[in-house]
Amino acid sequence: MVSGFGFATPNQKLETRNQKTNFMKRREFIILSGIGATSASLLSACGHPEEKLIPAFIPDDEYVPGIDYWKASTCGMCPAGCGIIVRTREHKANKIEGNPLHPVNHGALCARGQAGLQVLYNPDRIKGPMKRIGERGEGKWDEISWDEAIKILADELRRTTYAEEAIFVTNDMTGVTAHVANRLMEALRRNAYVVLPLSYDPSSEYPGGPLFDLANATYLISFGARFLEVWHSPVMYSLAYGEFRSSVGKPRGKFIQIEPRMSLTGGNADEWLAPTPGNEVLAALALAQVIVREKLHKGVVSTDLANDLTAFAPETTAAVTDIPHEKLIRIAREFAKAERPLAIGAPGAMGAAMLLNRIVDNTNKSGGVLRSESNDESSPLRMLAPAGRFSTISHFRFPETLNLHQRRVMMIHRFNPVFVTPAVREGILRIPFIASFSSFLDETTELADLVLPDHCDFERWDVRSTSATTGGIVISLTQPVIEPQHNTRQTADVLLDLARELGGDAANALSYESAKDIVEKSVAKFAVNSRRADADTAWQELIDRGMIETTVESKQAQRNQSNKEPSPSLPGVSILAEDSEYPLTAIIYESASHGDGSYANLPALQEVPDPMTSVMWGSWVEINPRTARSLGIKEGDFIDIQTRTGDVRLPALLYPAIRPDVVAIPFGRGHSAYGRYAKNVGANPAPLFPTSERGVGLDSIVRARVVKSNDKGELIRFGTDLQQLMEKKPWR
Ligand code: SF4
Repeated sequence: MVSGFGFATPNQKLETRNQKTNFMKRREFIILSGIGATSASLLSACGHPEEKLIPAFIPDDEYVPGIDYWKASTCGMCPAGCGIIVRTREHKANKIEGNPLHPVNHGALCARGQAGLQVLYNPDRIKGPMKRIGERGEGKWDEISWDEAIKILADELRRTTYAEEAIFVTNDMTGVTAHVANRLMEALRRNAYVVLPLSYDPSSEYPGGPLFDLANATYLISFGARFLEVWHSPVMYSLAYGEFRSSVGKPRGKFIQIEPRMSLTGGNADEWLAPTPGNEVLAALALAQVIVREKLHKGVVSTDLANDLTAFAPETTAAVTDIPHEKLIRIAREFAKAERPLAIGAPGAMGAAMLLNRIVDNTNKSGGVLRSESNDESSPLRMLAPAGRFSTISHFRFPETLNLHQRRVMMIHRFNPVFVTPAVREGILRIPFIASFSSFLDETTELADLVLPDHCDFERWDVRSTSATTGGIVISLTQPVIEPQHNTRQTADVLLDLARELGGDAANALSYESAKDIVEKSVAKFAVNSRRADADTAWQELIDRGMIETTVESKQAQRNQSNKEPSPSLPGVSILAEDSEYPLTAIIYESASHGDGSYANLPALQEVPDPMTSVMWGSWVEINPRTARSLGIKEGDFIDIQTRTGDVRLPALLYPAIRPDVVAIPFGRGHSAYGRYAKNVGANPAPLFPTSERGVGLDSIVRARVVKSNDKGELIRFGTDLQQLMEKKPWR
């Protein structure tokens, strides 16, 4: 999935690093000298005489028609924070590439990152602030001014009297929106929540959690972590995986993937082990038990832990995991004896993976777990003004946390709860006032009373700190690459105006001019704290290069402490209960293209064939051919997947690389709103899950059964006659 002509092979990466010096010397430079030779020939083949990387704001009279200008910024399509450069010509952005200097992605981008401009130019963007005039969900709106919108919201907030009555919910974990919203809600003594992205484990506290030196590992076991697709920082780990597999200067790494349904990541493994769903943790503990009982461990293991692990011996748990114990014993020995072993895990299995890492004592060692410095500490925004933390909630557990019935005012930003869990729709409808900052009329925004559309990432300011496995902390800048396309406003700016309108503590807590002012001041603070160049130089460096990489002296000190760590303890284990009426298990997995459904409105991503099935523009359910045969199901037959909570009808896709007792459905399609490219394309599997029990084990799993219907459809797959199928609308 990594693409773009900045694609970094290990050799290219060295080239790119060498080029840094030139980049730093010249603020304005000819981009042909800044990217690798392949890129240069591609660019010159396009016939562009000269292309420049420039600061964001160039006066109109300095623009030369016909010249491409490249501006450095940060991809906002997932929290990984890859560096991008955006090509603009005549005030239009027309291409995104990876920033070759950025230590997270080294010039590479994933398909989502490449599709970013379709957010900017999407014809379904909300053009300006609106207030509802019809019934909720009726779609009748009045365009209003920003002043009026902010006054309406301020008046509603003034009517709230206690903390639980007003909430701000966002999935922006570390950016300027979260910073401003958090400080505003603190000043108002109201609540703020951040909803973690789908593939983030709250226990790992990522970002800010550990990094994994996959590139230098020699033996990798992944418990369902789909690091080539959606896990943490897909481009960074895809590049690291390339180095892991390289046999230059070290043995080629061996890779074991443990998951019930083979993902793209699993398809790349040397061995794929398919345990019963949700029992990846048991497999990890069985490996740990073998290592400890055979005294192959290198880290500190307490007697208590050794005793606790006894219950998880592979001979004991094989009946539950369905993995032969001989296989687990062999893998445990290989892992413990490997030169540089490493274990990683999906949400739910991260704790067990970290236990294995501690047992083989790979913390802060080459090829092991790199304890990254806390991003909080290095974040310029936190340096500027330490604010109380948001309460974090995992993606699927927000209904029980948010206590919707207590709320009078809900402000919602970059999160669409009605799509993720349709069952909350009734609860949300009962909230007297909803303000949405969405750029699109998604399922939740349709129910809002007030819409204050945010800028998209190419029109706004932000700064964040991320960590790179190849270096230290990276401070990345998001800056406008073109003027705003509509009458939208950056949400942080709207919240600053809201604070001024409310006055008192809110105005005192947020006395900044603008989001840009916050970003600039925080960079100045960072420059002072990190003893870098003066504030102006640091700011200019960020504007020009899009990022600053810090050298991290404290990392060595942390490495020296690795032996002082106490014995690890046993992670929690939960096993999905059997249900005789529902003999199968349904897995919902995050689509690499559509994420939590936020990118289903981008036609480029609807058009990307799924890497394992080649399906486009629709949803499907994967079922093992043996199971399908036993139920008389053929490819394309519509089948009903039923759980105790709900059901969904989907076309069957016969998929040999899945356990016979499992069916799997990608998440992200099946919107009932959200614009012309998302609406009524595919089906949303969310109703299959009880709202309070999602997120059990890895991804989301639930007991299910399938019933064949009489309907038959045709899946749109890469290589089929797409036009003909689209005209027939077989599955939309
Ligand atoms: S992994 Fe992809 S979507 Fe995420 S920041 Fe990088 S390019 Fe953007």
